[in-house]
Formats: sequence, structure tokens, C-alpha cells
Amino acid sequence: MSAGKIALPDPEGLRRAAEILRAGSVVAFPTETVYGLGADAFSEEAVGAIYRLKNRPTWNPLIVHVADAEAARDLAHEWPDLAVDLAEVFWPGPLTLVVRRAPHLPGIGAANDTVAVRVPAHPVALDLLRAAGLPLAAPSANRSEGISPTTAEHVLRSLPKVPLVLDGGACPWGIESTVLDVTGDVPRLLRPGALGLRVLRDVTGRIALPEAETADGAARDSPGMSRRHYAPRARTLLRTDVRDVEGLAGPVGTLTYEGSDGTEVLSADPREYAADLYAALHRLDDAGYATIVIQEPPGTEDWLAVRDRLSRAAA
Ligand code: AMP
Ligand code: MG
Repeated sequence: MSAGKIALPDPEGLRRAAEILRAGSVVAFPTETVYGLGADAFSEEAVGAIYRLKNRPTWNPLIVHVADAEAARDLAHEWPDLAVDLAEVFWPGPLTLVVRRAPHLPGIGAANDTVAVRVPAHPVALDLLRAAGLPLAAPSANRSEGISPTTAEHVLRSLPKVPLVLDGGACPWGIESTVLDVTGDVPRLLRPGALGLRVLRDVTGRIALPEAETADGAARDSPGMSRRHYAPRARTLLRTDVRDVEGLAGPVGTLTYEGSDGTEVLSADPREYAADLYAALHRLDDAGYATIVIQEPPGTEDWLAVRDRLSRAAA
């Protein structure tokens, strides 16, 4: 691991990062959800560098990060009343809004007419957005399909060729933002995430949930929701009883929550569980287990985002 690529988010680190971004290259930075791999959203070349470094399929579009709601509006062709209300309540924060894309913004990844935008709540992300003076397209800073990074070390292990990582410590939410499409009459959930549906509904009323997945495993609603994602290298399985390991290739590592023994035991509170999930998966993967068995979490709505990530990790 090349320590020279990790910079503190002090004025010198931010200056270096902003310079790299303005030159059309990429920088990894902390957000309150996971670490992002950012590039100038107005530069097709810079955005192309994200796809190459991550080996991300071009049909999977990126979220554009901006410093405030005003800057988000500038990227939109239409800014619905619901977006005004949601931005007011939840930004800065882990909510991504999909709106109609302004014509001056290049089509990012997907060839459609929408853009996903959010204002991150992490002080380093906001400092970087202001220092660079650019909207930053930024997916999670990991190889496509891999486990998302919640520390600077995770980023470098997954993307050793990244030019620079700003180190802001561990990400407080530890799970990706909730993605909500507000282009229609009823808001549609495209990806469950850090922000729970209960708090969202207080502002939006009814939310349409994703349609059932198609037979071939591709989710129809959201272009980025491929079935295999967030996945360790080891074979990964979900089980109601993690002691049920007969016939599995060893060594077997287990991931449980309080109340059940396991190699890694996470909190029984869904928010705390989510905050530690990716770090635990990274540890299990690095420890060289041939199989990782994960205890099925509860079926309640509070666990929706965690269940979504685990089902993709185990796909
Ligand atoms: P990532 O940043 O890697 O966590 O992935 C970004 C996610 O945002 C994708 O998986 C998509 O589900 C979603 N997304 C980004 N842009 C759009 C868009 N224009 N329309 C719908 N979903 C989007
Ligand atoms: Mg990702």
C-alpha cells in the first residue's frame, strides 16, 4: 500500500485534491455514507476515468455531488416541488434525488435524460466540493461489484491506481445513500439506503417501492442495481442458522448480530449494523475464509437497506 497516496484533508491536502480534479483526473474522498471516487461531472473524459478505474459498466450511472441545493438545481431541467421539500429537510445528507437532467450536463453513464444528485453531509466532502468549485460525479470508490469502502485503506486496497485518497477516517453511516426518483407524480424508491423510508414518508407521503426483479436477475427500475454487488471474493451465503455449514468449503467465517455467536458479531440495531457491515466484510474477506456465511437479518422495514446489500453480496 502506498501511503503517499493518502492525504489528510488539511488545506494542503484539499489543494492537491482540487488541483487533480481540475486537471481532469480522479480523487477518492470520504462522505457520510461511503468513500466516493470523484471527478468533474462536466468533463466526459474525467467521468470516463472513473469507469475505467472501477471497471464499472457504462450502463450504471453515477451520482453527482454538489455543495448545496442551489447547485443541484443548476444540474436539473426541472426541479419539482417535492425536491424542494426533500432538499430542505434532508440535505446535506444521505438522500439522492433523481430528476430530469439539464441539457448542459453531459449524459453520465446511462443514456437517459435524468441525473442523480445529492449534497453530502461530510465536512471533508463539502470542503472538497468548495475547493474544486465543480460538481463531482462520484460512485463508491471500489472495483465494480466489490465491497464498498468505509475507510481510506479500503479504497487503496480496492483501487491501488487511484491518484489520491483524502483520509477522513471511518464513514459515519457506512452504507450508501437512499436513491429516490422524483420525476413522476409518486416518488419511487430506486435503492434503499442510509435514510429510512419512515422518515422519508413524513415528507413525501406514499413512496412506490421497486418492482420485483426480472427472471434473469436484472432489476428493471434502477440501472445500477445489478444483482451481484457489494460482494466479497469468498463464496458468500445467507442463512437463518449460521451453524448450518455442512458441505461448505472451509475455512468458514460467519457474520452474525448480537444474540448469535459468529466470527464477526454486529449490532442488533440496523443503523449500527449498517455502519459496521462493510468493514466486517472486508475483514472476513482479507482473513482468507473460503466461505462467508451471513445470518439473515430481520424482515422488517428498518432492515431494508441492509437486506438489500446482503442479498447482493450473496448473489
Ligand atoms: P454508487 O454511487 O456506486 O453507489 O451507485 C449509484 C447509484 O445511483 C446507481 O446504482 C443507480 O442506482 C443510482 N443512479 C445514479 N444515477 C441515476 C439515474 N440517472 N437514474 C436512476 N438511478 C440512478
Ligand atoms: Mg457502488
